Amino acid sequence: MTFKNFIDGQWTDAAGQSENVNPSDLTDIVGHYASADVQQAEDAIQAARAALPAWRDTSPQLRADALDFIGTELLARRAELGKLLSREEGKILTEGIGEVTRAGQVFKFYAQEALRIAGSHIRSVRPGIHVDVRHEPVGVVGLITPWNFPIAIPAWKTAPALAYGNTVVLKPAELTPAMAWALTDIISRSGIPSGVFNLVMGSGRKVGGCLSASPHVDALSFTGSVATGRIVREAVTARGGRAQQEMGGKSPLVVLDDADLENAVSCAIGGSVVSTGQRCTSNTRIIATPGIHDQLLEAMTTRCRALRVGHALEETSDLGPVVDSRQMEVNQKYIEIARQEGAEIMCGGEQLELAHEGHYMAPAVVGRASNSMRHVREEIFGPVVSVLKAEDYDHALALANDSDLALSSGICTKSLRYAEDFKSRSEAGMVMVNLPTAGVDYHVPFGGRKSSSFGSREQGTAAREFFTSSKTCYTLPLS
Ligand code: NAD
Repeated sequence: MTFKNFIDGQWTDAAGQSENVNPSDLTDIVGHYASADVQQAEDAIQAARAALPAWRDTSPQLRADALDFIGTELLARRAELGKLLSREEGKILTEGIGEVTRAGQVFKFYAQEALRIAGSHIRSVRPGIHVDVRHEPVGVVGLITPWNFPIAIPAWKTAPALAYGNTVVLKPAELTPAMAWALTDIISRSGIPSGVFNLVMGSGRKVGGCLSASPHVDALSFTGSVATGRIVREAVTARGGRAQQEMGGKSPLVVLDDADLENAVSCAIGGSVVSTGQRCTSNTRIIATPGIHDQLLEAMTTRCRALRVGHALEETSDLGPVVDSRQMEVNQKYIEIARQEGAEIMCGGEQLELAHEGHYMAPAVVGRASNSMRHVREEIFGPVVSVLKAEDYDHALALANDSDLALSSGICTKSLRYAEDFKSRSEAGMVMVNLPTAGVDYHVPFGGRKSSSFGSREQGTAAREFFTSSKTCYTLPLS
């Protein structure tokens, strides 16, 4: 059986298909999934276009009920779908279940938001004239998503898109179609009319390229790497489309002499190599001041060595596998680069052979790192965390800000003065104090600065900015 695409309310065969392999056990085939061609992508866009006028004008109650239905089913099936997620992507089961829970909560949140699409009334400076500002749907939106949060990211793009009255074409990552398919299956039973939501699985270049280039896609929300993001942005903006993008990170975590060491180690390890380092917000650059640096490096190394790498579904595993062989090659390449640059691999970094054949790698702490080294400047997206020494707070802040990527940042300190100063002067889009840089709520704005992001914020009520277009209306009452 092949899991099909969903176009105009119909499950649709495709010319091609791809095999979805469990990275924890390469003999376990999760399923075969349809690969759309350009024609199917065009059909999906056409269906979304045709469904737009009616959906734009639907009662907010219908939208709220449908989104609530989706959220309720995701939450009810979190254990089953969390297991599927862990099989497909490789994050450990508690994280898989946690991610499905998050997706359910996101739909529940936007079910309520569908009822709160408020405008505003402004008094005109001219007597007798009324001005009101409305927020209308943008139109057909394309959603392109990465593999590392295979249901949370499709959820946090799809739910606001639908809540605010847009129609959708979703293209998930090639590596993780199962979660997008499972979400689509629930959406298909939610009461949402045909054509309003469409799923086209398949190649980034072909299907994603078609969504980016099509003049019939009004807005495109993308999450993925900086390199792909650039290609997508150029295609969308060149034709006058609206783009929103969340991309790579190399988030710093500053640890000052006065930090609580135990908490700093938990943040430094828990926010980096855990989840196999496959989070955009991971704190992969630890910047410590001299009074704590040596102790921190030693304690991080001890904590990292104790982490158990294993099959994502085994209870004893702290860390699952790397997602695929290509990502493993990237990780191994950067370990070698770090060595050649003169950094010290304190622990880990090697590929592991375990009972199941999978893409296993021991998480690595890299000491004696500096901010000019390639493995520190470039996003690896694997279980590798580098530790740098700074002279003092100002130097640490300067190093933290010395990056093209500025998604998230953090500081561990007991000093209110430094915490407040860091919140003001960090150049990142999100700042954490005494917390890992990874781990954000679903009801507040999410996003970075510099090359990490483009356009307005995702999540919470901030999503309204991207998924609606404002209209200013004037009235002069004549009688
Ligand atoms: P990727 O850029 O390789 O792929 C992302 C998506 O783009 C996939 O669906 C892919 O098929 C599609 N794509 C590929 N080529 C395309 C093209 N030419 N035109 C249109 N679409 C195309 O990223 P990935 O490997 O799936 O994900 C990992 C990256 O995502 C990391 O850089 C990570 O930091 C980033 N990420 C960022 C966030 C965030 O919110 N900032 C969240 C998760 C992941």
